[in-house]
Amino acid sequence: MAEHGVGLSLKGLTKAYGPSVALDGVDLEIAPGEFMTFLGPSGSGKTTTLNLIAGFVEPDTGSIDVGGAPIVGVPPHKRDIGVVFQQYLLFPHMKVGANVAFPLRRRGVAKREAQRRVMEMLEVVGLEGMAQRYPRQLSGGQQQRVALARALVFNPKLLLLDEPLGALDRRLRESLQLEIRRIHREVGVTFIFVTHDQEEALAMSDRIAVFNKGAIEQVGTGETLYQRPDTLFVARFLGDSNVIEGEVRVDGGQTYLVDGRNRFMAPNVNVPVLDAHMAVVVRPECVRLVAGAQELGPGVNRVAGAITEVTFFGSRRRLSVDVDGRAFLVDESGLGPAPRPGDAAVLAWRAEDASLVCTGAPTGAPRSAVPVG
Ligand code: ADP
Ligand code: MG
Repeated sequence: MAEHGVGLSLKGLTKAYGPSVALDGVDLEIAPGEFMTFLGPSGSGKTTTLNLIAGFVEPDTGSIDVGGAPIVGVPPHKRDIGVVFQQYLLFPHMKVGANVAFPLRRRGVAKREAQRRVMEMLEVVGLEGMAQRYPRQLSGGQQQRVALARALVFNPKLLLLDEPLGALDRRLRESLQLEIRRIHREVGVTFIFVTHDQEEALAMSDRIAVFNKGAIEQVGTGETLYQRPDTLFVARFLGDSNVIEGEVRVDGGQTYLVDGRNRFMAPNVNVPVLDAHMAVVVRPECVRLVAGAQELGPGVNRVAGAITEVTFFGSRRRLSVDVDGRAFLVDESGLGPAPRPGDAAVLAWRAEDASLVCTGAPTGAPRSAVPVG
């Protein structure tokens, strides 16, 4: 079994299909053994990027290094990369054991050795004792485990998984998410996992690359992307948010976002774009209800409005609050008496708990570097 995965370096990858641009400059560094997830809406270029790495498609421009060696132009079967798709693509007329053994047969591994590795791999994916079954005698989740075993049995340096859980129901998805993470830890191979499901990405990954329109908008841990998104797209794609768009101003060392007549304290970032159109993103759990007369410390924003909706989710309560025609989402603990629609509400959030993000600027557009103060 592979002890260590390989690192990957993608530089300036582009790919067009006629007039349609599938990839518009993808750059990414992946560390050896990392669990990297590609997250993004349908059509954002996730599968195209995987296909370039696997060698099923060649890029128009750009380079791909795997373990320090360039692989553009190397045929897929010589790249030593395992692939798992949403459709399991098992051979229906072959038993599970023969399905898993297939890549070893193609590589000319001796029969006894192949059998030993198949058994070992079936154990890793939790299918010991199933070697003699046919795929049709297995559930969808079990068939996907067979596909995983087949993709890993030849000790690839890298495993690519393209929405592998997309065809499964929610309960099964969640248990296989945990399984795939366990297998990743166990085999030590570098994994690239594609999903359009933000919760799946947050639950599974060391880091996430957020794709938008054929490019990567931001790369980071789930925590970073959620708490410190760089762009409105990333903020909206991961979790719920309150968004206030406006112009950035600095006054007395404090950064503000000015929206019409309102001025909100924004986090003090080192290099903001003065006068630029930006947005403040505040997560619902960072907003709290306060008593109207309550003293708030410095750096805390306060707005007044009226509650329009209260939704109980068990562990928490989601309030919708109308503030001058703008709907604010507020999450609070589900304990204690619930406020009612129509109640007046004063909301507060610390400026430092919000993020100042780019709105519609194209990916990687240079920002003017004007220091605060
Ligand atoms: P994702 O996997 O994120 O849903 P894809 O990488 O499959 O997105 O697709 C990115 C874009 O490239 C889409 O607009 C898609 O229609 C286009 N595309 C992908 N493959 C082809 C192809 N073989 N021919 C034409 N257009 C394609
Ligand atoms: Mg896809």
